[in-house]
Amino acid sequence: MIYRRTLRREVACTGIGLHSGKPVRLRLLPAPAEHGIRFARTDVGVEIPATLAHIGGQDHATTLTLGGVSIGTVEHLLAALSVLGVDDVRVEVDGPEVPILDGSAAPFVILLHEAGLRPLAVPRVLLKVLEPVEVRHGGKAARLVPADHFEVSYSIGFDHPLLRHQALALRLTPRSFTDAIAPARTFGFLREVEMLRKSGLALGGSLENAVVIGETGVLNNKLRFEDEFVRHKILDAVGDLALLARPLVGRLEATRAGHALHAAVARKLLATPRAWELVAPELAPVVGARARDLESPLESPVPAYSLSTS
Ligand SMILES: [Zn+2]
Repeated sequence: MIYRRTLRREVACTGIGLHSGKPVRLRLLPAPAEHGIRFARTDVGVEIPATLAHIGGQDHATTLTLGGVSIGTVEHLLAALSVLGVDDVRVEVDGPEVPILDGSAAPFVILLHEAGLRPLAVPRVLLKVLEPVEVRHGGKAARLVPADHFEVSYSIGFDHPLLRHQALALRLTPRSFTDAIAPARTFGFLREVEMLRKSGLALGGSLENAVVIGETGVLNNKLRFEDEFVRHKILDAVGDLALLARPLVGRLEATRAGHALHAAVARKLLATPRAWELVAPELAPVVGARARDLESPLESPVPAYSLSTS
């Protein structure tokens, strides 16, 4: 992949916001080169660039904020956009949250297949990690280290019999993301869900869009993967790292981390000039490269899963 890409055509879907429980309309529109990924709140007329500088809150999801206006739960969509290679896109929502859909990024992968990709005549510049940077907080840690590709190695451990320890490492490609990461759903503990509800949050949360862990097991019928939890953590991390606004060449090594630590290590990387450089892969002749791009608009197979959203 050499040139920046946008969508070939506009696509849309409707779902509910995880916290508000209210319906939200999501539209993804083609954008010019260097536009980046921007979220537009069409109900209030504010547009927020998806960058680290605009992170507003990171409690249970990542929220972008500008001038007192927020758009929440951006990370699953950001993960799909970044790994499938969408550099420039306008994301419109008519409410304060991106719809949660089934709690994973699979619906967004399907939507992006519907949209297709179109190359733009501007080269894509990558952010390459040159030296390790690390942030720690209690028993939690996130490190970015040099690697030849974008890789994530993640381990989690909770004080719960179902979730003592899960770990997974993989290289993120459109194919590995589509098959192994995108379908992993949001999860939460039943006791936590009850607390969130009491404070007026997670009103849209249900077994349709989250895996809920009770005292003795999951309340849902079955998991999509035996280690669905660590896969979802990788999904969140990929979405949060997309706020670097450049494709990353390096490996994230995370231990019991979360949204705040993902963003903290990304910020630390940018604040450490010797730890990174921008690289533009050598350009092939424009005509040949663009013709090839058009032949294979998405580098991932059409996902095997299907989607039921209204
Ligand atoms: Zn998530």
